[in-house]
Amino acid sequence: MRQIKIFSDYRLDLICSYCSNNATETRDHVPSKILLDEPFPENLPVVPCCTKCNQDFSKDEEYFACSIECILRGSSNIEKLQRQKIKMSFQKRPALQKQIENSFIFQNGILTFKYKQERFENVATKLAKGHVKFETSNPQFIEPTSIVFKSLSSMTEVETDSFFSLSQLNILPEVGSRALQNLIIDGNGIIQSNWKTAQDNKYKYSVINDVELLIVRIVVWNYLAIEVIWNDN
Ligand SMILES: [Zn+2]
Repeated sequence: MRQIKIFSDYRLDLICSYCSNNATETRDHVPSKILLDEPFPENLPVVPCCTKCNQDFSKDEEYFACSIECILRGSSNIEKLQRQKIKMSFQKRPALQKQIENSFIFQNGILTFKYKQERFENVATKLAKGHVKFETSNPQFIEPTSIVFKSLSSMTEVETDSFFSLSQLNILPEVGSRALQNLIIDGNGIIQSNWKTAQDNKYKYSVINDVELLIVRIVVWNYLAIEVIWNDN
């Protein structure tokens, strides 16, 4: 990925990007590496964070990443999985594999997956806060107003268009922020996209910092669409 120097307030780098309570003790990749495959992209975004947040999130992120892989393969059987990282997680943590195995429910001829909502929301909040901190000069420490998960394949054409559209980009991102520097603008000065790819087909996201709304949209493994919104931004 391109590396861009930013000019925002350095004091915000001295406190954790997620909880704001603790001083920066470590750095955290957004997206987390468990959501990507090796070789990892160069210059993967990192944000300052405290050790507690870093550790607290990692279990939920592992659960989230393992769930996505199992949903995509329609199984929690290690032999049917493709991602090496997930196979290793299951080998190390049979209880996690069991938990995910029990989340598959076969009903009326349809296989569904019942995910633990709190854990998915925890991961979505963390990813969104990390993207906001990295892309704008305005980190969010409060909990989001809403979090929505949808599979891309279940979205109508209208929903898909609106999810990827720029219609809500009414104001330009703050000068000096990465969000401004990341806009893809064509030869006529028209904004083409504010989506940023962390790794092809695995993870992309957009941050829309509007007058009243802050919206983070994420697509994980071309499967799961996530929208995290803060009102009264
Ligand atoms: Zn923290």
